[in-house]
Amino acid sequence: MTSNNVSNAPGLDAYWMPFTANRQFKADPRMIVAADGMYYTAADGGRVLDGTAGLWCVNAGHGRRRIAEAVERQLATLDYAPSFQMGHPAAFDFAERLAAIAPGGPDAPLDRIFFTGSGSESVDTALKIALAYQRAIGQGTRTRLIGRERGYHGVGFGGISVGGILNNRRVFPTLPGVDHLRHTHDPVRNAFAKGQPEHGAELADDLERLVALHGADTIAACIVEPVAGSTGVLIPPKGYLERLRGICDRHGILLIFDEVITGFGRLGTPFATERFGVRPDLVATAKGLTNGVIPMGAVFASRAVHDALMHGPEPAIELFHGYTYSGHPVAAAAGIATLSIYEDEGLLTRAASLEEDWAASIHDLRGTRHVIDLRNLGLIAGIELEPRPGAPGSRAYDVFVDCFRRGLLIRVTGDIIALSPPLIIERGQITDAISLLAEAIERAA
Ligand code: PMP
Repeated sequence: MTSNNVSNAPGLDAYWMPFTANRQFKADPRMIVAADGMYYTAADGGRVLDGTAGLWCVNAGHGRRRIAEAVERQLATLDYAPSFQMGHPAAFDFAERLAAIAPGGPDAPLDRIFFTGSGSESVDTALKIALAYQRAIGQGTRTRLIGRERGYHGVGFGGISVGGILNNRRVFPTLPGVDHLRHTHDPVRNAFAKGQPEHGAELADDLERLVALHGADTIAACIVEPVAGSTGVLIPPKGYLERLRGICDRHGILLIFDEVITGFGRLGTPFATERFGVRPDLVATAKGLTNGVIPMGAVFASRAVHDALMHGPEPAIELFHGYTYSGHPVAAAAGIATLSIYEDEGLLTRAASLEEDWAASIHDLRGTRHVIDLRNLGLIAGIELEPRPGAPGSRAYDVFVDCFRRGLLIRVTGDIIALSPPLIIERGQITDAISLLAEAIERAA
C-alpha cells in the first residue's frame, strides 16, 4: 500500500495519535508547548484558557510547583520498586491519605485502595474485583456484567464491553454476558434542565428487567458513570442513582461507580457518591487523582468486598491481578502532593461555590443560534448543537478549532461541546470563556 503523504512538515509522521483523526490533524496541527495555572501556551505564543482541565484531569490547574518538587524528590530517592511482593512508603502513604477522604461516608468508607495506571485499568480492575468477590462469597454463577448505553469506561476489553459506544465496539470483540441499561438522556422532557433533570428515575428499572430476563444469580455487577462525561455530559435524573442502588441491593448485585471524571471535586463534593448520597461498592478513579501530571488510577473498594477476598490458605495471592506500575512511587508522590493542594486550597468542594454562577453563564447560551440543549452540574457542562444536515459533528468541530485559535480549549464529541475547567477557575474567566464560546458558535452557524 502506498502511504498517504499526510504532511510536508517534518517530524509529524511517526507519532500515531490516540482518538484523533491523524491525517486531518497533521495537515493542520494544533500544538501546545507550555502551561501554567488556567492557561496553555500555543506554539504561536498565544494564551489558551483551559476549558477542559486537559482531559478532565488537571483539577488544580497547571504547573503546580508542589507536585513538581514532590516528583523530583521521589525520583531522586526511589524511582521505582517492584509492585509485586514488595512495598515502598509512597504507595502506603498515598493509600492512607486517600482512605481518609474515601467515598462512601464516614460510617462505611470505601477505604481499601487498589492502584492502577489509568482510568481504563481502574475500570477493568473494578470489574475483575466484582467477579472475584462474587465467587469468593459462593456466588460463582454471577458472571454477567451490566453497563449502560452511552457509557464510556475506557478502552480495555472490559471497559469497551460494559461501555455503550458503538464505535468503540464495532471493530473489536467484546466480553460475552454483558448487557446494557438505556442511557438517561431525554432531550424532550429534560431539555435545558438546570442541574439534575426531573424526569427519568424510572429508567433505573431497566436493571429489574435484566434481572427478570437473566436471573439475579447470573449478574455480578452494574457499572455506571454517575455523570456520563465523554459521551456528552449526561446528568442523572433526580432519584435515578438511588433507585439503581436499591435494585442492586435487592438482588445481590454490586454497584460500581466510574468516577474517573467526577472524582476529586468535579461536582463540588470530593466524589459523586457524596453529591448524590449513594454509596456504591466500588469506585474507579484516575485523572484528578494525580492532577493528570503522572499517569495513575485507583479503585476504592468497600471493606466488605475487600475482606471477602482476604481469606484462603497462606501464602496464596488473594487477587490474581496487578500492574508493574501499581502504586508507582513517583505517581504516588505526585498524588500525595496533589491531594495536599486539593485539601489546602479547598478544591474538593470549590465547584459547589461556583456552581450557581457557572450554571447561569452556561444557560446564558440559551438562544444562541443552533444551541438545542444545555446541561450542567458542579463544574461540568454539555452544550449540544444542532447538527448540520448531512455533516454531523462538523459544526462542533468548527467551533472547537475556532475557539482554540482565539484562546479557549473546549472538547467536542459529535455535536456536543463539553466544558470542565480546572477547579481553580475564577468567575471572570468563566464569563470570558462563555462569551468567547458564544461568538464561536454564532460564527459556526
Ligand atoms: N472512565 C471514564 C468515565 C472516563 O471518562 C475515562 C477517560 N475519559 C476513562 C474511564 C478511561 O480513562 P483512561 O483514558 O485514563 O484510560
